[in-house]
Amino acid sequence: MSEQRVAVVTGGARGIGAATAARLARDGRAVAVCDLDQTACEEVAAELVAQGHRALGVGCDVSDAAAVEAAVARVSAELGAPTIVVNNAGIIRDNLLFKMSVEDWDSVMAVHLRGAFLMTKACQGAMVEAKFGRVVCLSSTSAQGNRGQANYSAAKAGLQGFVKTLAIELGRYGVTANAVAPGFIATDMTKATAARIGVSFEDFLTHAAKEIPVGRVGYPEDIAAAIGYLTSDEAGFVSGQVLYVAGGPKD
Ligand code: NAP
Repeated sequence: MSEQRVAVVTGGARGIGAATAARLARDGRAVAVCDLDQTACEEVAAELVAQGHRALGVGCDVSDAAAVEAAVARVSAELGAPTIVVNNAGIIRDNLLFKMSVEDWDSVMAVHLRGAFLMTKACQGAMVEAKFGRVVCLSSTSAQGNRGQANYSAAKAGLQGFVKTLAIELGRYGVTANAVAPGFIATDMTKATAARIGVSFEDFLTHAAKEIPVGRVGYPEDIAAAIGYLTSDEAGFVSGQVLYVAGGPKD
């Protein structure tokens, strides 16, 4: 049997990240669940271990370079060198441009863009050495523009450029890099949006489903399935792509 590959999933303590951690574990990967809160990471990892998988919870702020280095060192020591990276950690700080503070802009850039850069950079040596790597960044349909999300849209579009460049630079080492761009997914993030605009989550979901061709909102497992494919060994010829997973067509 070939050596078990090790995956890092950032923002893995809940939502799309937790579903992805579970999916990759079922796909036979050892999984490091990285998130801000160490205890929350440990809980998700413990559940995976209880199901018979290898997993580790690692508290880490992805926007902190030293913390990311330390997290990757710990993952390498306890699970093995990570060659699969899912840059999923994310925050929203929505506001119309004229009300958006510099802090709202900077914090969104720090988690999505700087975080993806730091985590990928910290793992790329292991990928090049293994002559295998899979990088998936979570983009969004908001990359195409979304009212109240100048910061988030710019970050999510930036991640598309990031993976395309990684695909060009690292392809020769067997490393692919792709973005998954979800549409509306029922998670705490969309729950927070409903609260901000003052509608119940249930009404928000019902309204969103009406706008989606498949007639329902997405769930974290829908995104995890796409990530499972893009991180699979057999997806080695798919690189630099943006896969919209939105229940309907997007450009
Ligand atoms: P979520 O439920 O809010 O989960 C995001 C996770 O990221 C949380 O566990 C959060 O930790 C963690 N996180 C935030 N800042 C971090 C940092 N600096 N370092 C490490 N972890 C950090 O979000 P989600 O809906 O699952 O979204 C996951 C990804 O998909 C995000 O990149 C998001 O932008 C993207 N996406 C989501 C949707 C959607 O409809 N939900 C659509 C398109 C794209 P705390 O809980 O401690 O804050």
